[in-house]
Amino acid sequence: MKALVKTAAEPGLELTDVPEPSVGPGDVLIKVKQTGICGTDLHIHGWDDWAASHVQAPLVVGHEFSGVVVEIGSSVTDVAVGDVVSGEGHLVCGRCRNCRAGRRHLCINTRGIGVQLDGAFAEYVALPSQNAWVHTTPIGFDVAAIFDPFGNAVHTALAFPMLGEDVLVTGAGPIGILAAMVSKHAGARNVVISDLSEQRLALASSLGVDLALDARTAKPQDAHDQLGMTEGFDVGLEMSGSPVALRDMISSMTHGGRIAVLGLPADEISIDFATVVLNMLTIKGIYGREMFETWYAMSVLLQSGLDISGVITDRFDHTDYEQAFAAARSGHGGKVIMNWES
Ligand SMILES: [Zn+2]
Ligand SMILES: [Zn+2]
Repeated sequence: MKALVKTAAEPGLELTDVPEPSVGPGDVLIKVKQTGICGTDLHIHGWDDWAASHVQAPLVVGHEFSGVVVEIGSSVTDVAVGDVVSGEGHLVCGRCRNCRAGRRHLCINTRGIGVQLDGAFAEYVALPSQNAWVHTTPIGFDVAAIFDPFGNAVHTALAFPMLGEDVLVTGAGPIGILAAMVSKHAGARNVVISDLSEQRLALASSLGVDLALDARTAKPQDAHDQLGMTEGFDVGLEMSGSPVALRDMISSMTHGGRIAVLGLPADEISIDFATVVLNMLTIKGIYGREMFETWYAMSVLLQSGLDISGVITDRFDHTDYEQAFAAARSGHGGKVIMNWES
């Protein structure tokens, strides 16, 4: 089968032939339909320090995908051939304390497809059946392909109660915009987003945020006046990894404000910790998706009318992967997806 492969410890990817994945007794084989390009894939493509220390070639990359189940292992009972699925790309051990307590997103032995294990930028991908999320209501393969980043957004946005709150989202990449949309859908009063890209701010505005701030010229406090807020933001969603964004967020929160952080900083960050203490702020790190409560929330958010298709701005055939990766790397668009249907 065709797959996008990191063939050597150097920049670049190769569309090449590899053997179809084998299916163990508890696995399902999925014919891949559409895939999303993630920041992780950009690191692996560009072969930066993180990639060099976490990834071993050869590896089929990619972890955001949708597809149809074409084969099931002998012990699989919960997934059937023909099911439309998205994939949870984090494979957990099932044996550590958190796994056994049902907190699988906190597994200390997590391995990821497309990072440590062969991934989904391929014609077929194999997964443990419990990692296949079966869609029980009709869904486009494009939207189903971005359930992984949508899940990051849902996990972050729903980390704290949202009803009636004023929310600041720093970072208007696809996940930031999705988190803003989820916040609005979940009953937030005002949702403000900030970014450095005019195109991304315009996209966020078109998808329903109340105020999009250009972080080069405006501070979060400016939103207080424009929206008639008097006491600061109740909930902060940090999606950028930027030290400036986190510092500005901390200084614009109300007393008792709660901050969920998904954005991954490249280095250590210094913050005004006295404000965290004196204003009794809560800061919570977020990683991945809760298995599988976040997935349940994603499906019911869509069933209750949330339309996330607008965050997909660029579509390519998998054979044009270099253009697709360049579009994702530009930092100005929404979600970039690649088609694997021939
Ligand atoms: Zn991802
Ligand atoms: Zn575990």
